[in-house]
Amino acid sequence: MSVDLDSTGGRVFVRGDRARPFLERHPWVRATSIERIEGEPVAGQVVELVGKGDRVIARGIYEAQGGIRVRLYAWDQRQLDAEFWRERIRMAFMLRETLGLMRPSEACRLVFSEADGLSGLIVDRYRDYIVIQAGSVGMVRRLPVISGVLNDLLRPSAILVRLEPELRRFVGESCEEGVFVGHPPEGPVVIEEHGLQFGVDLMEGQKTGFYLDQRENRLAVARYAPGRRVLDMFCYTGGFALSCAKLGKAKEVWGMDGSERAVALAQANARQNGLANVRFEQGDAFQTLRQFRDRGERFGMVILDPPKFAGGKASVPDALRAYHSLNRLGVELLEPGGILATCSCSGYVTREDFFNVLFGVAQQVKREIQVLEMRSAGPDHPTWVACRETNYLKCFICRVW
Ligand code: SAH
Repeated sequence: MSVDLDSTGGRVFVRGDRARPFLERHPWVRATSIERIEGEPVAGQVVELVGKGDRVIARGIYEAQGGIRVRLYAWDQRQLDAEFWRERIRMAFMLRETLGLMRPSEACRLVFSEADGLSGLIVDRYRDYIVIQAGSVGMVRRLPVISGVLNDLLRPSAILVRLEPELRRFVGESCEEGVFVGHPPEGPVVIEEHGLQFGVDLMEGQKTGFYLDQRENRLAVARYAPGRRVLDMFCYTGGFALSCAKLGKAKEVWGMDGSERAVALAQANARQNGLANVRFEQGDAFQTLRQFRDRGERFGMVILDPPKFAGGKASVPDALRAYHSLNRLGVELLEPGGILATCSCSGYVTREDFFNVLFGVAQQVKREIQVLEMRSAGPDHPTWVACRETNYLKCFICRVW
Protein backbone atom coordinates (compact mmCIF):
# COMPACT_ATOMS: atom_id res chain seq x y z
CA MET A 1 0.00 0.00 0.00
CA SER A 2 1.47 3.36 -0.88
CA VAL A 3 0.69 6.34 1.30
CA ASP A 4 0.33 9.87 -0.03
CA LEU A 5 3.10 11.56 1.95
CA ASP A 6 1.76 15.04 1.18
CA SER A 7 -1.60 14.35 2.81
CA THR A 8 -1.90 14.96 6.55
CA GLY A 9 -1.19 11.65 8.25
CA GLY A 10 -1.83 12.65 11.83
CA ARG A 11 -1.86 15.23 14.57
CA VAL A 12 1.06 15.50 16.94
CA PHE A 13 0.07 17.04 20.29
CA VAL A 14 2.81 19.01 21.96
CA ARG A 15 3.16 18.96 25.76
CA GLY A 16 1.63 22.06 27.33
CA ASP A 17 4.89 23.20 28.92
CA ARG A 18 6.92 22.60 25.75
CA ALA A 19 4.99 24.56 23.12
CA ARG A 20 6.88 27.82 23.30
CA PRO A 21 9.81 27.11 20.95
CA PHE A 22 7.40 25.94 18.25
CA LEU A 23 5.21 29.02 18.62
CA GLU A 24 8.49 30.91 18.17
CA ARG A 25 9.10 28.88 15.01
CA HIS A 26 11.90 26.59 16.07
CA PRO A 27 11.69 23.69 13.61
CA TRP A 28 12.85 20.69 15.70
CA VAL A 29 10.27 18.73 17.68
CA ARG A 30 11.95 16.12 19.87
CA ALA A 31 10.27 13.09 21.44
CA THR A 32 10.36 14.72 24.88
CA SER A 33 8.10 17.55 23.64
CA ILE A 34 5.40 15.21 22.30
CA GLU A 35 2.41 14.32 24.47
CA ARG A 36 0.62 11.98 22.06
CA ILE A 37 0.02 11.33 18.40
CA GLU A 38 -3.41 11.02 16.84
CA GLY A 39 -3.54 8.94 13.68
CA GLU A 40 -0.83 6.70 12.27
CA PRO A 41 1.52 8.85 10.23
CA VAL A 42 4.31 7.04 8.40
CA ALA A 43 7.89 8.32 8.43
CA GLY A 44 8.15 11.12 5.89
CA GLN A 45 4.46 12.04 5.97
CA VAL A 46 2.99 15.48 6.66
CA VAL A 47 1.59 16.03 10.17
CA GLU A 48 0.09 18.92 12.08
CA LEU A 49 1.65 20.07 15.33
CA VAL A 50 -1.16 20.85 17.73
CA GLY A 51 -1.00 22.94 20.91
CA LYS A 52 -3.41 24.12 23.59
CA GLY A 53 -7.10 24.23 22.70
CA ASP A 54 -6.56 22.07 19.63
CA ARG A 55 -4.87 24.92 17.87
CA VAL A 56 -2.62 23.99 14.94
CA ILE A 57 0.80 25.56 15.58
CA ALA A 58 2.57 24.45 12.41
CA ARG A 59 2.78 21.82 9.70
CA GLY A 60 5.74 19.55 9.46
CA ILE A 61 7.01 16.14 8.48
CA TYR A 62 6.97 13.14 10.75
CA GLU A 63 10.34 11.43 11.12
CA ALA A 64 9.30 8.53 13.41
CA GLN A 65 12.84 7.86 14.69
CA GLY A 66 15.97 9.71 15.73
CA GLY A 67 16.59 12.84 17.79
CA ILE A 68 14.11 15.02 15.89
CA ARG A 69 10.64 13.46 15.53
CA VAL A 70 8.91 16.20 13.56
CA ARG A 71 10.56 18.85 11.41
CA LEU A 72 8.44 21.97 10.97
CA TYR A 73 8.19 23.98 7.75
CA ALA A 74 5.02 26.09 7.64
CA TRP A 75 3.35 28.20 10.32
CA ASP A 76 0.41 29.11 8.11
CA GLN A 77 -2.18 27.25 6.06
CA ARG A 78 0.16 26.24 3.25
CA GLN A 79 0.23 22.63 2.12
CA LEU A 80 3.62 20.91 2.10
CA ASP A 81 3.36 19.81 -1.52
CA ALA A 82 5.65 19.93 -4.55
CA GLU A 83 4.81 23.60 -5.10
CA PHE A 84 5.90 24.43 -1.54
CA TRP A 85 9.33 22.81 -1.96
CA ARG A 86 9.77 24.43 -5.38
CA GLU A 87 9.10 27.85 -3.85
CA ARG A 88 11.47 27.35 -0.89
CA ILE A 89 14.28 26.08 -3.13
CA ARG A 90 13.74 28.99 -5.51
CA MET A 91 14.00 31.44 -2.59
CA ALA A 92 17.28 29.80 -1.56
CA PHE A 93 18.61 29.89 -5.11
CA MET A 94 17.71 33.59 -5.52
CA LEU A 95 19.77 34.46 -2.44
CA ARG A 96 22.88 32.84 -3.92
CA GLU A 97 22.32 34.73 -7.16
CA THR A 98 22.02 37.98 -5.20
CA LEU A 99 25.26 37.13 -3.44
CA GLY A 100 27.04 36.69 -6.78
CA LEU A 101 27.90 33.09 -5.96
CA MET A 102 26.70 31.46 -9.17
CA ARG A 103 29.88 31.90 -11.22
CA PRO A 104 30.17 28.72 -13.31
CA SER A 105 33.70 27.73 -12.25
CA GLU A 106 33.05 28.12 -8.52
CA ALA A 107 31.14 26.37 -5.76
CA CYS A 108 28.59 27.46 -3.17
CA ARG A 109 25.95 26.16 -0.82
CA LEU A 110 22.55 26.48 -2.49
CA VAL A 111 20.40 25.22 0.38
CA PHE A 112 21.39 25.18 4.04
CA SER A 113 18.73 23.19 5.82
CA GLU A 114 16.99 25.09 8.65
CA ALA A 115 18.74 28.30 7.63
CA ASP A 116 16.75 28.24 4.37
CA GLY A 117 13.53 26.95 5.88
CA LEU A 118 14.31 23.47 4.56
CA SER A 119 15.23 21.45 7.64
CA GLY A 120 17.03 18.25 6.66
CA LEU A 121 18.14 19.38 3.19
CA ILE A 122 21.60 20.52 2.17
CA VAL A 123 22.40 21.25 -1.45
CA ASP A 124 25.88 22.23 -2.63
CA ARG A 125 26.93 23.24 -6.12
CA TYR A 126 30.37 22.39 -7.45
CA ARG A 127 30.65 23.97 -10.91
CA ASP A 128 27.78 22.28 -12.74
CA TYR A 129 27.51 19.35 -10.34
CA ILE A 130 24.93 19.30 -7.58
CA VAL A 131 25.36 17.31 -4.38
CA ILE A 132 22.32 16.79 -2.17
CA GLN A 133 22.96 15.80 1.41
CA ALA A 134 19.74 14.46 2.85
CA GLY A 135 19.47 14.65 6.63
CA SER A 136 15.91 13.49 7.22
CA VAL A 137 13.56 10.75 6.08
CA GLY A 138 11.14 13.42 4.86
CA MET A 139 13.76 14.79 2.48
CA VAL A 140 14.89 11.35 1.33
CA ARG A 141 11.31 10.51 0.38
CA ARG A 142 11.05 13.79 -1.54
CA LEU A 143 14.28 13.39 -3.51
CA PRO A 144 12.43 12.99 -6.83
CA VAL A 145 10.62 16.30 -6.31
CA ILE A 146 13.72 18.11 -5.03
CA SER A 147 16.02 16.87 -7.77
CA GLY A 148 13.34 17.76 -10.32
CA VAL A 149 13.25 21.34 -9.05
CA LEU A 150 17.06 21.57 -9.03
CA ASN A 151 17.24 20.12 -12.51
CA ASP A 152 14.75 22.71 -13.84
CA LEU A 153 16.59 25.57 -12.16
CA LEU A 154 20.18 24.65 -12.96
CA ARG A 155 20.32 22.01 -15.71
CA PRO A 156 23.36 20.42 -14.01
CA SER A 157 25.67 17.74 -15.43
CA ALA A 158 24.66 15.50 -12.56
CA ILE A 159 22.81 15.45 -9.26
CA LEU A 160 24.46 13.23 -6.67
CA VAL A 161 22.84 12.19 -3.42
CA ARG A 162 24.55 11.55 -0.10
CA LEU A 163 22.91 10.63 3.18
CA GLU A 164 23.88 11.81 6.63
CA PRO A 165 25.42 8.77 8.32
CA GLU A 166 22.78 8.55 11.08
CA LEU A 167 20.02 8.43 8.52
CA ARG A 168 21.20 5.27 6.82
CA ARG A 169 19.81 3.27 9.72
CA PHE A 170 16.35 4.74 9.25
CA VAL A 171 15.84 4.66 5.51
CA GLY A 172 17.21 1.15 5.05
CA GLU A 173 18.04 -0.22 1.65
CA SER A 174 15.32 1.69 -0.15
CA CYS A 175 17.59 4.66 -0.74
CA GLU A 176 21.05 4.19 -2.12
CA GLU A 177 23.54 6.98 -2.21
CA GLY A 178 24.63 7.80 -5.70
CA VAL A 179 23.67 9.46 -8.91
CA PHE A 180 20.15 10.79 -9.26
CA VAL A 181 20.40 12.66 -12.54
CA GLY A 182 23.12 12.54 -15.21
CA HIS A 183 26.55 10.92 -14.95
CA PRO A 184 29.01 11.13 -12.06
CA PRO A 185 32.28 12.98 -12.65
CA GLU A 186 35.39 10.97 -13.37
CA GLY A 187 37.66 11.80 -10.45
CA PRO A 188 37.66 15.03 -8.45
CA VAL A 189 35.74 18.05 -9.76
CA VAL A 190 38.05 21.07 -9.88
CA ILE A 191 36.48 24.23 -8.46
CA GLU A 192 37.87 27.72 -8.18
CA GLU A 193 37.95 29.70 -4.95
CA HIS A 194 39.61 33.12 -4.75
CA GLY A 195 41.60 32.18 -7.86
CA LEU A 196 42.87 28.90 -6.40
CA GLN A 197 41.96 25.50 -7.84
CA PHE A 198 40.70 22.76 -5.54
CA GLY A 199 39.93 19.18 -6.52
CA VAL A 200 36.76 18.03 -4.75
CA ASP A 201 35.84 14.39 -4.26
CA LEU A 202 32.04 14.54 -4.47
CA MET A 203 31.25 10.93 -3.60
CA GLU A 204 33.95 9.95 -1.10
CA GLY A 205 34.99 13.28 0.39
CA GLN A 206 33.80 14.49 3.81
CA LYS A 207 30.29 16.04 3.94
CA THR A 208 29.53 16.93 0.31
CA GLY A 209 33.25 17.14 -0.53
CA PHE A 210 34.43 20.59 0.57
CA TYR A 211 33.98 22.94 3.54
CA LEU A 212 32.24 25.75 1.70
CA ASP A 213 31.34 27.49 4.97
CA GLN A 214 34.96 28.59 5.45
CA ARG A 215 35.35 30.23 2.03
CA GLU A 216 35.35 33.84 3.26
CA ASN A 217 37.39 32.92 6.34
CA ARG A 218 40.12 31.39 4.21
CA LEU A 219 40.51 34.73 2.46
CA ALA A 220 40.35 36.69 5.74
CA VAL A 221 42.95 34.49 7.44
CA ALA A 222 45.29 34.63 4.42
CA ARG A 223 45.55 38.41 4.88
CA TYR A 224 47.58 37.85 8.04
CA ALA A 225 49.96 35.32 6.48
CA PRO A 226 52.59 37.43 4.63
CA GLY A 227 56.08 36.33 5.59
CA ARG A 228 54.88 33.97 8.31
CA ARG A 229 55.56 30.31 8.98
CA VAL A 230 52.04 28.86 9.06
CA LEU A 231 50.64 25.70 10.64
CA ASP A 232 47.22 24.63 9.29
CA MET A 233 45.97 22.01 11.72
CA PHE A 234 42.93 19.98 10.50
CA CYS A 235 43.75 21.11 6.96
CA TYR A 236 41.45 18.65 5.12
CA THR A 237 42.23 19.20 1.39
CA GLY A 238 44.34 22.29 2.06
CA GLY A 239 41.79 25.13 2.05
CA PHE A 240 43.46 27.46 4.55
CA ALA A 241 47.00 26.24 3.83
CA LEU A 242 46.89 26.95 0.10
CA SER A 243 45.11 30.27 0.62
CA CYS A 244 47.89 31.36 2.99
CA ALA A 245 50.60 30.15 0.63
CA LYS A 246 49.23 31.78 -2.51
CA LEU A 247 47.00 34.69 -1.56
CA GLY A 248 48.78 35.40 1.74
CA LYS A 249 52.36 34.90 0.52
CA ALA A 250 53.31 32.96 3.62
CA LYS A 251 56.97 32.05 3.99
CA GLU A 252 56.25 28.37 4.55
CA VAL A 253 53.10 26.34 5.26
CA TRP A 254 52.56 23.02 7.01
CA GLY A 255 49.18 21.33 6.76
CA MET A 256 48.20 18.38 8.93
CA ASP A 257 45.11 16.19 8.94
CA GLY A 258 44.12 12.84 10.37
CA SER A 259 42.69 11.62 7.07
CA GLU A 260 45.14 10.08 4.61
CA ARG A 261 42.71 10.63 1.74
CA ALA A 262 42.36 14.32 2.57
CA VAL A 263 46.13 14.75 2.79
CA ALA A 264 46.64 13.08 -0.61
CA LEU A 265 44.13 15.46 -2.20
CA ALA A 266 45.74 18.43 -0.41
CA GLN A 267 49.10 17.46 -1.92
CA ALA A 268 47.54 17.16 -5.37
CA ASN A 269 45.90 20.58 -4.87
CA ALA A 270 49.27 22.14 -3.95
CA ARG A 271 50.78 20.75 -7.15
CA GLN A 272 47.83 21.87 -9.25
CA ASN A 273 48.34 25.44 -8.00
CA GLY A 274 52.13 25.29 -8.47
CA LEU A 275 52.86 25.91 -4.79
CA ALA A 276 56.17 24.53 -3.60
CA ASN A 277 56.49 26.01 -0.10
CA VAL A 278 53.62 23.93 1.31
CA ARG A 279 53.84 20.46 2.75
CA PHE A 280 51.09 18.20 4.02
CA GLU A 281 51.35 15.33 6.46
CA GLN A 282 48.96 12.90 7.99
CA GLY A 283 48.82 12.84 11.77
CA ASP A 284 46.71 13.24 14.88
CA ALA A 285 46.35 16.90 15.82
CA PHE A 286 46.72 16.63 19.58
CA GLN A 287 49.69 14.30 19.37
CA THR A 288 51.44 16.39 16.73
CA LEU A 289 50.87 19.66 18.59
CA ARG A 290 52.40 18.15 21.73
CA GLN A 291 55.39 16.86 19.78
CA PHE A 292 55.89 20.27 18.20
CA ARG A 293 55.69 21.95 21.58
CA ASP A 294 58.14 19.51 23.16
CA ARG A 295 60.73 20.01 20.45
CA GLY A 296 60.36 23.81 20.51
CA GLU A 297 58.82 24.39 17.05
CA ARG A 298 57.52 27.92 16.59
CA PHE A 299 55.07 29.35 14.07
CA GLY A 300 54.01 32.85 13.09
CA MET A 301 50.47 31.62 12.52
CA VAL A 302 48.49 28.64 13.76
CA ILE A 303 45.12 27.72 12.22
CA LEU A 304 42.86 25.36 14.16
CA ASP A 305 39.72 24.11 12.40
CA PRO A 306 38.76 20.89 14.19
CA PRO A 307 35.68 18.73 13.52
CA LYS A 308 32.56 19.22 15.62
CA PHE A 309 33.37 18.41 19.27
CA ALA A 310 29.81 18.80 20.67
CA GLY A 311 27.05 16.80 18.99
CA GLY A 312 24.43 17.80 21.57
CA LYS A 313 23.89 19.85 24.70
CA ALA A 314 25.14 17.06 26.97
CA SER A 315 28.58 16.97 25.37
CA VAL A 316 29.24 20.72 25.65
CA PRO A 317 31.36 20.53 28.84
CA ASP A 318 33.64 17.88 27.31
CA ALA A 319 33.82 19.84 24.09
CA LEU A 320 34.86 23.00 25.94
CA ARG A 321 37.66 21.08 27.66
CA ALA A 322 38.83 19.77 24.28
CA TYR A 323 38.73 23.28 22.76
CA HIS A 324 40.70 24.53 25.75
CA SER A 325 43.53 22.02 25.42
CA LEU A 326 43.65 22.37 21.63
CA ASN A 327 43.84 26.16 21.77
CA ARG A 328 46.31 26.07 24.60
CA LEU A 329 48.62 23.90 22.50
CA GLY A 330 48.12 26.21 19.52
CA VAL A 331 49.00 29.31 21.54
CA GLU A 332 52.09 27.64 22.99
CA LEU A 333 53.47 27.16 19.47
CA LEU A 334 53.08 30.82 18.53
CA GLU A 335 55.99 33.22 18.54
CA PRO A 336 55.24 36.59 20.23
CA GLY A 337 52.95 38.60 17.96
CA GLY A 338 51.80 35.43 16.21
CA ILE A 339 48.33 34.92 14.75
CA LEU A 340 45.89 32.32 16.01
CA ALA A 341 42.96 31.57 13.69
CA THR A 342 40.73 29.30 15.70
CA CYS A 343 37.41 27.78 14.73
CA SER A 344 34.54 25.84 16.25
CA CYS A 345 31.72 24.35 14.20
CA SER A 346 29.76 23.00 17.18
CA GLY A 347 26.32 24.60 17.06
CA TYR A 348 25.81 23.94 20.77
CA VAL A 349 28.96 25.87 21.73
CA THR A 350 28.03 29.56 21.70
CA ARG A 351 30.26 32.45 20.66
CA GLU A 352 30.37 33.46 24.30
CA ASP A 353 31.49 29.94 25.30
CA PHE A 354 34.20 30.00 22.68
CA PHE A 355 35.34 33.44 23.77
CA ASN A 356 35.59 32.11 27.33
CA VAL A 357 37.78 29.25 26.11
CA LEU A 358 40.28 31.81 24.83
CA PHE A 359 39.97 33.76 28.07
CA GLY A 360 40.83 30.59 30.01
CA VAL A 361 43.79 29.82 27.76
CA ALA A 362 45.20 33.34 28.11
CA GLN A 363 44.97 33.03 31.92
CA GLN A 364 46.64 29.68 31.96
CA VAL A 365 49.55 30.33 29.63
CA LYS A 366 49.96 33.91 30.89
CA ARG A 367 49.94 35.47 27.45
CA GLU A 368 47.82 38.26 26.00
CA ILE A 369 45.25 37.41 23.36
CA GLN A 370 43.76 40.16 21.21
CA VAL A 371 40.72 39.13 19.17
CA LEU A 372 40.97 40.91 15.82
CA GLU A 373 38.00 39.39 14.01
CA MET A 374 35.05 37.33 15.24
CA ARG A 375 33.79 35.71 12.11
CA SER A 376 31.12 33.22 11.14
CA ALA A 377 30.20 31.25 8.03
CA GLY A 378 29.71 32.99 4.68
CA PRO A 379 26.30 34.37 3.68
CA ASP A 380 25.39 31.25 1.72
CA HIS A 381 25.18 29.70 5.23
CA PRO A 382 22.70 32.17 6.75
CA THR A 383 21.49 32.22 10.33
CA TRP A 384 17.75 31.57 10.78
CA VAL A 385 16.87 33.70 13.77
CA ALA A 386 14.34 31.22 15.14
CA CYS A 387 16.94 28.44 15.08
CA ARG A 388 20.11 29.71 16.71
CA GLU A 389 21.88 26.41 16.06
CA THR A 390 22.26 27.62 12.46
CA ASN A 391 24.77 30.18 13.78
CA TYR A 392 27.19 27.32 14.35
CA LEU A 393 30.53 28.41 12.93
CA LYS A 394 32.94 30.53 14.91
CA CYS A 395 36.23 31.66 13.39
CA PHE A 396 38.19 34.02 15.64
CA ILE A 397 41.35 35.60 14.32
CA CYS A 398 43.60 36.70 17.19
CA ARG A 399 47.03 38.11 17.85
CA VAL A 400 48.95 36.53 20.71
CA TRP A 401 51.82 38.25 22.54
N1 SAH B 1 40.05 23.48 7.40
C1 SAH B 1 39.46 22.55 6.48
C2 SAH B 1 38.26 21.82 7.06
C3 SAH B 1 38.56 21.01 8.31
S1 SAH B 1 37.29 19.89 8.75
C4 SAH B 1 39.07 23.29 5.20
O1 SAH B 1 39.15 24.52 5.14
O2 SAH B 1 38.71 22.62 4.23
C5 SAH B 1 38.03 19.00 10.05
C6 SAH B 1 39.16 18.07 9.65
O3 SAH B 1 39.70 17.49 10.83
C7 SAH B 1 38.79 16.91 8.76
O4 SAH B 1 39.52 16.99 7.57
C8 SAH B 1 39.19 15.65 9.56
O5 SAH B 1 39.78 14.65 8.74
C9 SAH B 1 40.21 16.20 10.52
N2 SAH B 1 40.39 15.49 11.79
C10 SAH B 1 39.45 14.97 12.60
N3 SAH B 1 40.00 14.51 13.74
C11 SAH B 1 41.34 14.74 13.65
C12 SAH B 1 42.45 14.51 14.51
N4 SAH B 1 42.31 13.94 15.70
N5 SAH B 1 43.68 14.91 14.10
C13 SAH B 1 43.84 15.50 12.89
N6 SAH B 1 42.83 15.74 12.05
C14 SAH B 1 41.59 15.37 12.42
